[in-house]
Amino acid sequence: MQAIDTNSMKELVLSKWNSKRPLIISGPCSAETEEQVIETAQRLAKTGKVDLLRAGIWKPRTRPGSFEGIGTKGLPWMQQARKITGLPVTVEVATGKQVEDALHFGVDVLWIGARTTVNPFSVQDVADALRGVDVPVLIKNPINPDLELWIGAVERVAKAGIKNIGLIHRGFSAYGNTEYRNAPMWHLAIEMKRRNPGMIMINDPSHICGRRDILQDVAQKAIDLDMDGLIIESHIDPDNAWSDAKQQITPERLAEMLGDITWRKEDSGSEEFHVALEKLRQQINHLDDELMQILGQRMKIAEKIGEYKKNNDITILQTNRWNEILERAFKQGDKLGLSKEFITKYFDAVHMESINHQNKIMNA
Ligand code: PEP
Ligand code: MN
Repeated sequence: MQAIDTNSMKELVLSKWNSKRPLIISGPCSAETEEQVIETAQRLAKTGKVDLLRAGIWKPRTRPGSFEGIGTKGLPWMQQARKITGLPVTVEVATGKQVEDALHFGVDVLWIGARTTVNPFSVQDVADALRGVDVPVLIKNPINPDLELWIGAVERVAKAGIKNIGLIHRGFSAYGNTEYRNAPMWHLAIEMKRRNPGMIMINDPSHICGRRDILQDVAQKAIDLDMDGLIIESHIDPDNAWSDAKQQITPERLAEMLGDITWRKEDSGSEEFHVALEKLRQQINHLDDELMQILGQRMKIAEKIGEYKKNNDITILQTNRWNEILERAFKQGDKLGLSKEFITKYFDAVHMESINHQNKIMNA
């Protein structure tokens, strides 16, 4: 096989990066042996569906005692896999030294992991090592649901002069057992996208799910939400992987899954589609206006109640009344196809706003 010229490889990554077709990143959670890395890369390349080969070289594990990565000796394996298959490669970096080592071995794209994004000192150390370097960097969300930390990491890397920054949404840890290993909290990903227009966002179903059976559903949801790509862990022998065995899939299964996803785009060239969409959006705007008017009226009535309560020295919160409101809403919501979760959140917000209005009147 012919050696691949670094510049054309970089152009390849960036053209994918800037195109509207989703970027697909795959490879093992961890590089384990040279054979494993190369066989995974070859089988991924054979599918024709993967743009970038990933592998963890240094693995920041939550607790000690599990496999913490093969270390720098795995970097030549990535280099070799790249040479054989033509796939550009990406690894996670958590320290300045790791950035230097990765760049020394020609890694095409770097990513910052969730356990690093939480720590401004670590992010700064990585950013300092990136100064004067022209390499794309993907930044995972922090493990806790804090957009400011995520944005802070983006700012630190941008200040170091990195032009091509992308985001990876990998979910957020929550206490206790849930359906997911890391709760997706899609609304946070949506808000992060809104605040960083023009920055690509890639979804990581593997670390959100922590298990194979729901990977496809999460990947589909990410595409439906206009994410720009997917990073999914794959392994030649998933059950015997040295890390994250439960969530990895074979390269062939990955290809099958990608084939089953319905790819959608944010916009359509069709005039008819635009007209129909515009009409429906106007109806939504109209209904939203009405809802706001009604909410305004509701608060005026709450204020009147506040005056009565004030004159009669009665507390603002009356738990029985609040239960009655919720019970009524659940019953009605059920008939209207509104979930209990939504009704709870919506009435919590409306009720808090009423309390604030009454508080102003009563303590004026
Ligand atoms: C990984 O991608 O293997 C990884 C460690 O992910 P995260 O930082 O999202 O936990
Ligand atoms: Mn992993």
